[in-house]
Amino acid sequence: MLPVIALVGRPNVGKSTLFNRLTRSRDAIVADYPGLTRDRQYGQGRVGPRPYLVVDTGGFEPVKSEGIVQAMAGQAELAIEEADVVLFVCDARAGLTPHDARIAQRLRVSGRKVFLLVNKAEGLSDVAKAEFYELGLGEPYLISAAHGQGVRAVIDLALEGF
Ligand code: GDP
Ligand code: MG
Repeated sequence: MLPVIALVGRPNVGKSTLFNRLTRSRDAIVADYPGLTRDRQYGQGRVGPRPYLVVDTGGFEPVKSEGIVQAMAGQAELAIEEADVVLFVCDARAGLTPHDARIAQRLRVSGRKVFLLVNKAEGLSDVAKAEFYELGLGEPYLISAAHGQGVRAVIDLALEGF
């Protein structure tokens, strides 16, 4: 079984853009991995010699209710359970939001290895990541999924140990 990387975050932060950058093949992945469901979108990628699976948790409705349990759609919850590593994507242009904080709270108790990605950061300085430290998930990594900036470095870190 390949290491499974789940992409989590509120809508419109760039998860699917990142998914497309991280994957080459998009189809016929699930059939090869009986444990996985078709409810989420899977793709396979590779960094150097290391292959991985990526799960995009897009396609769910924005969460309307308050609270930790409702921080994410059930689909995303399941993706976290089956993931080895979670990439939590936030939006540098939008800044830190209350919804981000609720998702972070859920991720902190997940026991998963979590990397905090601050996307849409092309052209921005490190100042853009300052507010994201308060999520309590460690170092925020500035990336641009659209331009491919910072992505390789994060995947290298995420795959360490696999
Ligand atoms: P998702 O809802 O989290 O899957 O987000 P999408 O991948 O659909 O992207 C939402 C919007 O953000 C789209 O208009 C993307 O083009 C845009 N976007 C994604 N990544 C970047 C980025 O690195 N920089 C900028 N400026 N926009 C981005
Ligand atoms: Mg999406």
